Amino acid sequence: MIQPPRKLQNSRTTGQLVIQWAAGIEHKIAYRQLRSACRCASCRADQTRGKISLIPDDLYVVKINNLGQGLQLVFSDGHERGIFPWQYLHDIGEQCVGQ
Ligand SMILES: [Zn+2]
Repeated sequence: MIQPPRKLQNSRTTGQLVIQWAAGIEHKIAYRQLRSACRCASCRADQTRGKISLIPDDLYVVKINNLGQGLQLVFSDGHERGIFPWQYLHDIGEQCVGQ
């Protein structure tokens, strides 16, 4: 089990969610990447249909709810059903390294 992050930063200036993990690793994940990685039923259906390109360019994270097991993110396009468990966030973050 992955430990919850030490620190979370919602950086509107860079368009990223910055996560500092307990192990000392820092991940910077672009808002659009988070939005397109949403695993709720509706988004998964969109991903299968290839509709994920409809994400607005100026998308940002309005609100972060820490659920203890992960995060619920509220996006500026009104989407708020996405739950991102710690392990999943860590996986997305690893994919962003070096990008
Ligand atoms: Zn979703």
